[in-house]
Amino acid sequence: MALIVQKYGGTSVGSIEKIKGVAERVIEDYRQGNQMVVVLSAMAGQTDGLIQLAEEMTPHPDPRELDVLMSTGEQVSVALFSMAIKSMGHDARSLLGFQAAIHTSHLYGKARIHDIDTARITKELNRQRIIAVAGFQGLNERGDITTLGRGGSDTTAVALAAALNADVCEIFTDVDGVYTTDPNICPRAKKMEFISYEEMLEMASLGAKVLELRSVEFAKKFNVPIHVRSTFTRERGTMVVAETEDMEKVLVSGVAYNKNEARVTIKKVPDQPGIASRIFEPVFESGIVVDMIVQNTSEDGLTDLTFTVPKPDFYKTMKLVSDTAQKVGAEKVLGDQDIAKVSVIGVGMRSHAGVAQKMFGALAKENINIMMISTSEIKVSCVIEEKYTELAVRVLHNVFGLDNEDKEEK
Ligand code: ASP
Ligand code: MG
Repeated sequence: MALIVQKYGGTSVGSIEKIKGVAERVIEDYRQGNQMVVVLSAMAGQTDGLIQLAEEMTPHPDPRELDVLMSTGEQVSVALFSMAIKSMGHDARSLLGFQAAIHTSHLYGKARIHDIDTARITKELNRQRIIAVAGFQGLNERGDITTLGRGGSDTTAVALAAALNADVCEIFTDVDGVYTTDPNICPRAKKMEFISYEEMLEMASLGAKVLELRSVEFAKKFNVPIHVRSTFTRERGTMVVAETEDMEKVLVSGVAYNKNEARVTIKKVPDQPGIASRIFEPVFESGIVVDMIVQNTSEDGLTDLTFTVPKPDFYKTMKLVSDTAQKVGAEKVLGDQDIAKVSVIGVGMRSHAGVAQKMFGALAKENINIMMISTSEIKVSCVIEEKYTELAVRVLHNVFGLDNEDKEEK
């Protein structure tokens, strides 16, 4: 007998029929003798719909009330799901965040889970019930409803799995696992059997949308094995687990890309202490997340400073930086939105040299110019012209031996 926490995303519970399908599947696992805790998202599109309602009411909805509103999407799902289970002859209980005693920080819309008192869930499980927990919500110390940020149901599931010491946390979604790269642009992408937490973190922060970033951080911290799999097939998906020695043998495990960044360059900035701090201060203060930063060696006391920001923050950043650039006497500020970042990721890089060189060589062979480079222990990223993204991803996927040879090239 195992204790299994399962999470089903919005598309998996997107209609009455689909909820019935999920209920059947959960009952199958329950009948095998497992204890089942099922975390549900709101039905597809519902959370967006609720946010829209609030915005129609007022341009700046009160954050407390917005959480009261947004949390109703998941309430609908767990209620319908529990009805389905009961209509199929089994016992179920729906629990909202507060009933499941999911205690969070006070920050509405972005609350963090502090702790979960599992007494109620355990009691219900001991009564042979299937438990449905509303994802994405909790209770703060004021006794108010909070939500965890978009995509937060993944975190609810992983946190529950950790608190209950579950055997596995299964995340059911509309894709069948984690791929070596985006199968939409690289037909030879392969489904991975295993991926380490750290690699998954890099993939998630680079925009792979299978798992919410925070849920992976949580899983890593509490060593919760995650199984990412499809709601619509029985096949095994991808296990996200702690690093093993075997993983180190592979040089690169995945290739990721991000077209959602823009580049800002400040030409001929005086190379003096305090300048970088002055330039970035207003940017950081506006909550804009700066990703890569490169500063050239200086010539005649002047240097060029280049960095990337998310595309939606581009114009604001240009404005902020232009103001400061003028004040500190820099020559000019240039911007470029037609860029992309391609990255190769793998824990094997820790013990093998030459990954960056191989990457640069592969891009050079295709005549793709590298504008910026950054590296971490398990990742090398290059900024290139956006129009070469697909080509770069395919070439790197091939060069690092990730291609699925059974698949035809498109
Ligand atoms: N329903 C929430 C959202 O759409 C939470 C989730 O689905 O994980 O972001
Ligand atoms: Mg999701």
